Amino acid sequence: MFKAVLIEKDDTGYRAGVTEVDEAALPEGDVTVRVDYSTLNYKDGLAITGKSPVVRKFPMVPGIDLAGTVEASAHAGIVPGDRVVLNGWGVGEVHWGGLAQRARLKGEWLVPLPATFTSRQAMAIGTAGYTAMLCVMALERHGVTPGQGEVLVTGANGGVGSVAVALLAKLGYTVVASTGRPQEADYLKALGAATIIDRAELATPGKPLAKERWAGVVDTVGSHTLANACASTRYRGTVAACGLAQGMDLPASVAPFILRGVTLAGVDSVMAPRAERLEAWRRLAQDLDVGKLELMTHEIGLGEAVATAAALLEGKVRGRVVVDVNR
Ligand code: NDP
Repeated sequence: MFKAVLIEKDDTGYRAGVTEVDEAALPEGDVTVRVDYSTLNYKDGLAITGKSPVVRKFPMVPGIDLAGTVEASAHAGIVPGDRVVLNGWGVGEVHWGGLAQRARLKGEWLVPLPATFTSRQAMAIGTAGYTAMLCVMALERHGVTPGQGEVLVTGANGGVGSVAVALLAKLGYTVVASTGRPQEADYLKALGAATIIDRAELATPGKPLAKERWAGVVDTVGSHTLANACASTRYRGTVAACGLAQGMDLPASVAPFILRGVTLAGVDSVMAPRAERLEAWRRLAQDLDVGKLELMTHEIGLGEAVATAAALLEGKVRGRVVVDVNR
């Protein structure tokens, strides 16, 4: 038996709680992992609360990411004792996930944990941090370099936003952090933000084109914020879009794209190819200051995951939440 958060949906409703699960109930897979840590990402919040139909199979163990040690493997190249990390692939949505002491997974989904990170640090990064790295890599791929001007990060106090601020600052970019929580300005400056702006400046309908300001943007928010970010991106700048914290809509015009050659680069972490994952984790090991990582992280036990999921969706959680599944 092992402990897990289990989401159930039936005639009596949608509920999530910690329960004891029989190992025999684990889903199919060729690798069994003893989980050390998981995390709470925005999507886990949606899954646990049922606010959005993220979970497509019941009962479901949520947790879109995990770090742990291989216990048993029938997968070539993976052996017991290997330290691994997993992000996405529908885990925690259609396949039992990381908010549990055990997981059974496909070996091809697993990435070796970079030697520089502990399991806890890997999950302090989590899918949010790995996505932030993918966003930075998208900006780089499209030619955004430090020295071109300010780079905007929206939803800066969130998990993706916090890691994006820290990464971009370490790489030498001048980071402007947009937030609805100006009281966290000191925290954002400690992560490396040069300037803090109120997210209200970007949150309402704006003009198709605004004054050129951003050399690049990492947007975790979507909706009017993303539209306004595109409208104020400089000639040939790039906007990496990964999130929808404000909304799934994009009430924009084509003006920034056809008049300023702005690139809107979509970022998906769930099905990203293996080579890109390996590169993102390599870059995180190289470019993320672990001191800053500790600053943005707080730890909870498995039993606190359900309550914290609701707080996360209400925008009350700062930075990253690491879940010790063994307490
Ligand atoms: P968090 O909940 O940690 O952060 C979201 C942040 O967005 C909040 O902290 C808040 O920042 C801001 N925010 C919340 N509500 C609003 C609102 N109504 N208007 C404007 N800003 C708002 O989530 P994550 O960092 O884990 O994820 C961020 C987004 O990225 C989510 O939409 C998530 O689904 C998406 N995502 C996408 C991935 C992909 O593969 N494409 C992978 C991972 C995440 P502040 O308080 O600073 O304003």
